[in-house]
Amino acid sequence: MVSLGCPKALVDSERILTRLRADGYAMSPDYAGADVVLVNTCGFLDSAKEESLEAIGEAIAENGRVIVTGCMGEEADVIRARFPEVLAVTGAHQYEQVVEAVHEAAPAAQGPFVDLIPQPDVKLTPRHYSYLKISEGCNHSCAFCIIPRLRGKLASRRIDAVLREAEKLVAAGTKELLVISQDTSAYGVDIRHEERMWQGHPVRAHMTDLARELGGLRTPEGEVPWVRLHYVYPYPHVDAVIPLMAEGLLTPYLDIPFQHASPKVLKAMKRPANEARVLERIRQWRAIAPDLTIRSSFVVGFPGETEDDFRYLLNWLEEAQLDRVGAFRFEPVEGAAANALPDPVPEAVKEERYARIMEVTERISAAKLQPKVGRTLPVVIDEVGEADDDGDIGATARSQADAPEIDGNVFLRNVPPSLRPGDIVPVTIEDSDAHDLYGVIAA
Ligand code: SF4
Repeated sequence: MVSLGCPKALVDSERILTRLRADGYAMSPDYAGADVVLVNTCGFLDSAKEESLEAIGEAIAENGRVIVTGCMGEEADVIRARFPEVLAVTGAHQYEQVVEAVHEAAPAAQGPFVDLIPQPDVKLTPRHYSYLKISEGCNHSCAFCIIPRLRGKLASRRIDAVLREAEKLVAAGTKELLVISQDTSAYGVDIRHEERMWQGHPVRAHMTDLARELGGLRTPEGEVPWVRLHYVYPYPHVDAVIPLMAEGLLTPYLDIPFQHASPKVLKAMKRPANEARVLERIRQWRAIAPDLTIRSSFVVGFPGETEDDFRYLLNWLEEAQLDRVGAFRFEPVEGAAANALPDPVPEAVKEERYARIMEVTERISAAKLQPKVGRTLPVVIDEVGEADDDGDIGATARSQADAPEIDGNVFLRNVPPSLRPGDIVPVTIEDSDAHDLYGVIAA
């Protein structure tokens, strides 16, 4: 399995592999040992599509027997035109079809016990954190995005199924759950927030019920697992989860993809939950949960973005003091409505704005990390290094403000050799820079 793209695609890969393993297949660590190679593609941006095509080409060159799935599967003709030898092409979350294609390409040697022994689900992330996908697809139609076309309308999972999966993951050693979807705040809208019984009481398929129930989980050691909410849009009910963060039941972290701040650009982007009171609400959230970390992403150079719009965004960022920001230069995606908008921003201007937004957000990030020096914070260990010549062992960790892969790290010195990935330990912060913290385990 070659898995490309976002955490949602990674969850798809895990599901496909879980099914295949139940059917008696094993995973190969390299091309040479595989009877067939599955490439789970990403088709979000043209650059991602090119990367997907390159991955397919590599798998064909290295192995020759290739099945393509994922977001780029919607463009089967493009794939077949370039690689006529691919065995099958299936689309995003078409689990049955992809499993069937594997059965055809490489029939499994069924052992007598294969169907009888329940196996744990396949995970492609380390054991101590897991992505929890609560829905597929999206009901919005942001002008720059083709996800609804690739992945369809919002389709929420049953709340009891989501909670059962979360409970199982935590019982199996997950210390940190990352709730993902295309629009977490809209969870359950498509199924009218249907109620299901969970541990003797009714719960609705709704973000606030989900957050409350996840906040009630405990690890086998009796600790509260970290629960992070990603892809949250600032609908009014987001206010209801902030007190859970203040109580320590939910990780004080919100990933809100604002994408812009200028009302004119947001309107042209057709962004959901685009409302003027956001700055005031961020202030209120921080008053309730002072350690709240807000991560977001922004697009610069969207068609029609003027210097004034861009300055509005920079001023807004100065006000909002977001903790973690990713910025992207607008890139037209084939099939996106934004491509037809007038007044494209020249590449050189995009570059210049990108450099300016990075400068501002790095400065804000550094200023927000600096006051953490001297504090003692819980961190989760991701990796423990080898001892250096002096016998000093370092470790890479994350605080509650850092989601894996996308945010910063806490780098530790002098850790005991007994430390393991997944351990949550208190750390005294000794230093900071623009994105990361440095510290030592608290005495
Ligand atoms: S909310 Fe907008 S950007 Fe996000 S998946 Fe839906 S259409 Fe795309």
